[in-house]
Amino acid sequence: MIHDVIIAGSGPAGSIAAYLLARAGLDVLLLEKESLPRYKACGGGLPRKAQALIPFSVTLALEFQSAGGVVAYDGKSVFRTRTLKPYAALVMRDKFDHYLVRKAEAEGAIVRDVCRVTGVELLSEGVRVRSSQGEDQARVLVGADGINSVVAHLTGIIGKRRAGSALEAEVTVPLAALEDQGTYATFDFGAISHGYGWIFPKADHFSVGIFNASDAKEPQLRKILERYLERQPHIASYEIQRIRGHRIPLGGAKEVLHLGGRVMVAGDAANMADPFLGEGIHYALWSGTIAAETILAQWNHATLDFEAYTRRIWEEILPHFQYSQRIANVMYRHPKLATNMLHRSKRMQDVMFGVISGEHTYRDLYRAITWEAPLLLGEVIFKPYRGGGI
Ligand SMILES: Cc1cc2nc3c(=O)[nH]c(=O)nc-3n(C[C@H](O)[C@H](O)[C@H](O)COP(=O)(O)OP(=O)(O)OC[C@H]3O[C@@H](n4cnc5c(N)ncnc54)[C@H](O)[C@@H]3O)c2cc1C
Repeated sequence: MIHDVIIAGSGPAGSIAAYLLARAGLDVLLLEKESLPRYKACGGGLPRKAQALIPFSVTLALEFQSAGGVVAYDGKSVFRTRTLKPYAALVMRDKFDHYLVRKAEAEGAIVRDVCRVTGVELLSEGVRVRSSQGEDQARVLVGADGINSVVAHLTGIIGKRRAGSALEAEVTVPLAALEDQGTYATFDFGAISHGYGWIFPKADHFSVGIFNASDAKEPQLRKILERYLERQPHIASYEIQRIRGHRIPLGGAKEVLHLGGRVMVAGDAANMADPFLGEGIHYALWSGTIAAETILAQWNHATLDFEAYTRRIWEEILPHFQYSQRIANVMYRHPKLATNMLHRSKRMQDVMFGVISGEHTYRDLYRAITWEAPLLLGEVIFKPYRGGGI
């Protein structure tokens, strides 16, 4: 059978594209290598700007919303802030991703799990996709199969990647620790050099992790995570349920993300994660949406051409990554100084959490830093922060 579109990978990028295309009446086949619902190592921080991209309510798939953030340095809280509206939700990825898949299915997408894509053959019209369950053909293939994308690799769309890495522990803690943390998400810029540690509360446990924002491999990541856990004053005893990690692409390079009018890649497969926080769900949803919109805009053309997809990604998403990289350069070169300056500027704190919610952009944050930094630097030099802040 020849489908209209085959999508490889049922993460946020693949499932949002499947949902939008199926809703528009296209015959969509979504292939997923794991058995669904599948576990995904992830902090599960779902920014408000990401929720805004989803054309249906996901309330049922959220653990809760967070309107509080703690910025820390090496286990010590530097400041605590609240936002007027929640800036992010916390999710468990098995539940959240499966919710999106089921929505796509309800619109008519065919979902085939335990089905690993292994081969891609370009035909004069369309593509043939080989998988662990046989062969299928379609007019278009979307590779949304994550950072180790087989589609990107086999078609040569993405060459060498810049990627950081993250390691996450799902940690059972005493109830008192959960109550202590409340709905605050913690970001600790002294937990690792060139990255940060996080504590994200979930309904009955914590997600505690370390993001290494450098392209260089960090062989000590597990040790750093354990040390980070041990330095949490409010987590006196804890039990690690599981530790899992993965690479996270560091977006920002200008790459062509399509092959003629037959193949495109989206989400992590297309390096769509921000290089400062390693946040990728929002950009997976965004690029998956642009992929679907590009296909739909051209569907009645005799010949398809996805140049518009790459162009829109360059115009709409890449500038965010470029500013995000500048923020990373400042924060990770001088993390102590940078958190110290953040501590002194309520405006910079608001803009930083506004970037996560979507009220501000990384460009705004970069401007706030360059505008306020000279003044703050003077303050920091003459009145250095000595810890124990909140
Ligand atoms: C430890 C960690 C913590 C993170 N925390 C956050 C966070 O808090 N907030 C945030 O926004 N981002 C976070 N990220 C990044 C985020 O998880 C990714 O950017 C996001 O999942 C990308 O979505 P995606 O749909 O592109 O790919 P994925 O979610 O990776 O989905 C790809 C899917 O493709 C499937 N697949 C792979 N190969 C094949 C194949 N050959 N055939 C068929 N299917 C295949 C996979 O099984 C998977 O289901 C984190 C990442 C890590 C590693």
